[in-house]
Amino acid sequence: MRADTWRDRAACRGVPLAVFFPASEDDCDEAKAICAGCPARRPCLDDALKNGLQGVWGGTSERERRVLAREHRKAS
Ligand code: SF4
Repeated sequence: MRADTWRDRAACRGVPLAVFFPASEDDCDEAKAICAGCPARRPCLDDALKNGLQGVWGGTSERERRVLAREHRKAS
């Protein structure tokens, strides 16, 4: 039997992918609103940071994750 992962708890399950891959960084509000109530937000964000994913993950846009990654590199 497969162990549960954070993806099993994702609030975005069943939401059209286009919501999380908007054409513009300025169109992330709908995805971020879903992420705001997601119990998997932290591991989702960690995964996106670790793997350099595109789109909205863990309540953040690509631009926001670039800033987080830069801050993390400065702090370590
Ligand atoms: S934080 Fe957002 S993108 Fe990540 S699993 Fe939850 S709803 Fe989906």
